[in-house]
Amino acid sequence: MARYTGPVCRLCRRQGDKLMLKGERCTTRKCAMERRSLPPGQQRARRRKVSDRGLQLKEKQRARHTFGVLERQFRRHFAEAERRPGITGENLLQILEMRLDNVVYRLGFADSRKQARQIVRHGHITLNGRKTDVPSCAVRLGDVIAWQEKSTNTEYYKMVAQQIQDKIVPQWLSLDREKLYGRVLALPSRSDIDPGIDEKAVVEYYSR
Ligand code: SF4
Repeated sequence: MARYTGPVCRLCRRQGDKLMLKGERCTTRKCAMERRSLPPGQQRARRRKVSDRGLQLKEKQRARHTFGVLERQFRRHFAEAERRPGITGENLLQILEMRLDNVVYRLGFADSRKQARQIVRHGHITLNGRKTDVPSCAVRLGDVIAWQEKSTNTEYYKMVAQQIQDKIVPQWLSLDREKLYGRVLALPSRSDIDPGIDEKAVVEYYSR
């Protein structure tokens, strides 16, 4: 399964904004955007006027990088969003938000979406009691996301169990902090999802 393997801080510098792709490091002074917020590359100091199309592209990239999705998969999600009734931009964000890797991240089982994706890929997570190693898998209302029985003996699980006590989860999810499992209580609304993403610009980008 394809995934982006390049330097992620570079994506933030290109975006000119903190996309919070590295978990805890993003909130420390080690963050590349704190140390050097210029865009990467030789021409980085040059200021250019950005066209409307350029701004739309930037917003599309922001959404894509935030959720750690490659272009082809992102287009698939967009096509699905268009098929659904309602507002396409909000449908798209809802689809992205309900990916299994994002839910694992939101529940606090991982520090970043990238790490959540790895946990899922390594088979540590179950969906409704069945091992599921597909990060893009869509969760549904009432689904239960938990750990594989054998994964509960790992050092990582013990660390998560300690750190998760203070974790605040979005209101569309519930989290059992003792047994470390989560449940989907509702569909996420726009206000539950990253407010920094301009979904209208993403729709305009694909509508040309
Ligand atoms: Fe972006 Fe996090 Fe890297 Fe900072 S540390 S540049 S927020 S990925």
